[in-house]
Amino acid sequence: MLLSGNDSEQGGGSVAPVLSVKNLSTSFRVGDEWKTVVRDISFDVAPRETVAIVGESGSGKSVTSLSIMRLLPKKTSRIEGQVFLQGRELVSLPEEEMRRVRGNDISMIFQEPMTSLNPIFPIGKQIAEALTVHTDISRAEAKAEVLRLLEKVRIPNAKGRFDEYPHQFSGGMRQRVMIAMALASRPKLLIADEPTTALDVTIQGQILDLIKQLQEEEGMSVLFITHDMGVVAEVADRTIVMFRGDAVETGATDDIFHRGKHPYTRALLSAVP
Ligand code: ADP
Ligand code: MG
Repeated sequence: MLLSGNDSEQGGGSVAPVLSVKNLSTSFRVGDEWKTVVRDISFDVAPRETVAIVGESGSGKSVTSLSIMRLLPKKTSRIEGQVFLQGRELVSLPEEEMRRVRGNDISMIFQEPMTSLNPIFPIGKQIAEALTVHTDISRAEAKAEVLRLLEKVRIPNAKGRFDEYPHQFSGGMRQRVMIAMALASRPKLLIADEPTTALDVTIQGQILDLIKQLQEEEGMSVLFITHDMGVVAEVADRTIVMFRGDAVETGATDDIFHRGKHPYTRALLSAVP
């Protein structure tokens, strides 16, 4: 395949990645010492690709994503290496510009949607707020867009639920609301940190299907964090296996399932039914 100019940045003719993480290390200050919890991690996420980070609790998955977003406590954490979002380096970006990246270019969803929703505001209003932060649209336009988003995440009777409060939604429906909010800025990259872990198994499947469908419709890239190899098989084109802060394996998901070499990868795979 022949590509010209910037498209061939990666060499070998591949398309430029949306996200490129290069030699990322993150340390926390513990007393007088720095403890490194993510060690020299490098990976790319291509346009429309889903990359999974899988590993046991405490292996550094969330710290990796929070480092990309620069959402760690400034005084007690240190990030080394580089993170490029469509070629723009984020680790060294002024905070003001980083805030704009968080608002416009990368969205994140988490395990427990209730912690990110305000219990005293109707969900329609909260999504409208997320919208008006990014754009200067009118109230009426915002309301129409909120409805479109609620329908996009397949919330039944979206119009009727606009004025309901978070506690009136089930866990799965609340995660749909969070995904709607995450889509409001039309991000290039969605980081999903264990978005189905708190949900019942049947609901988990529905949310995974939704994320896959939306990814195709919106043309986003997804960085999907999970401790569950079964989920990896469902969603990921490529997979990074993390073990105690190291990326011990990186490759096509299929290869990792069939030819994963690291003992920890083998152990993870043996747990998949
Ligand atoms: P997980 O893979 O379960 O998401 P984390 O990335 O949350 O793991 O955590 C990796 C390691 O970093 C853990 O040992 C955790 O205790 C430590 N850690 C996470 N956040 C902080 C913090 N803000 N300050 C100090 N240590 C932290
Ligand atoms: Mg985590």
